[in-house]
Amino acid sequence: MRVTLIAKTEANYFAMMEATDHEYDPSGFDEGDGFRNLDITNDCDSVPVFGGRNCYQSWGKPNPATATEMGYLKNILSHEHYSVLEHSSATFYVTGVSRNLTHELIRHRHLSYSELSQRYVDMENARIVIPPALRQEHGGEVMGPLPWGAVRDYEATVRRLMAQGLKRKQAREAARYILPGGTETRIVVTGNMRAWRDSIYKRFNVSADAEIREFGGSLLTQLKEIAPGCFQDMDNTEPFGGK
Ligand SMILES: Cc1cc2nc3c(=O)[nH]c(=O)nc-3n(C[C@H](O)[C@H](O)[C@H](O)COP(=O)(O)OP(=O)(O)OC[C@H]3O[C@@H](n4cnc5c(N)ncnc54)[C@H](O)[C@@H]3O)c2cc1C
Repeated sequence: MRVTLIAKTEANYFAMMEATDHEYDPSGFDEGDGFRNLDITNDCDSVPVFGGRNCYQSWGKPNPATATEMGYLKNILSHEHYSVLEHSSATFYVTGVSRNLTHELIRHRHLSYSELSQRYVDMENARIVIPPALRQEHGGEVMGPLPWGAVRDYEATVRRLMAQGLKRKQAREAARYILPGGTETRIVVTGNMRAWRDSIYKRFNVSADAEIREFGGSLLTQLKEIAPGCFQDMDNTEPFGGK
């Protein structure tokens, strides 16, 4: 499984300062000595904070508990004022996962998806994703190119249907019905931080399927790096629901 962060929200601090006639000053919202290096900020936290501060026009941060971005977002989370987290987003490219996983993932209606088309892409060289419980037996996460009967049948079915006059895409769309749910797929998935929080809570969870649980853990680890404030209450070291 490869879960690669390919895009994320980028804040334009200079525009934000200018638009507020310099009432907003990101250097004032730093954790440490009050000086913020604009090159190393957590843009995915800063934009939601900007959105939240706009509600009360609280650019001057009178309350010490919410003076920093971390403190501000902690307060937002405690009040379940989650809509401000929708102002930043992240996009991942995910490969080496099964159609079983994406079938579950796409139930999350607030994330956005672009998935490999089994009607268009030739599945003759498709690989099978090995679920965690069978990895030791199979010696890896992904098996392929496939020695499995299903794929031999797939190839034969595509050829047979094309010989009967079907176009390649029509033949593939019919033949894919015999591919297993473990067939590897690839997906681009985008979400705002609120949508990520909600879906990760459900999938990086002891009740969830083992493959999607791994996926949820990887997402959370990477999102905590780019948006530590938005995910500060979510522990990535063990799945939710265990206690
Ligand atoms: C462990 C586990 C087992 C599961 N087993 C099954 C199963 O056996 N069969 C099955 O079919 N599914 C199953 N699911 C999928 C599950 O039912 C949900 O479809 C999936 O988790 C998406 O979550 P969601 O519907 O809460 O919200 P999302 O689509 O992720 O939306 C997030 C939130 O937005 C709100 N929301 C979204 N759409 C609406 C709406 N139309 N109306 C009102 N509020 C809305 C809700 O508050 C929702 O919780 C399972 C999920 C998990 C985590």
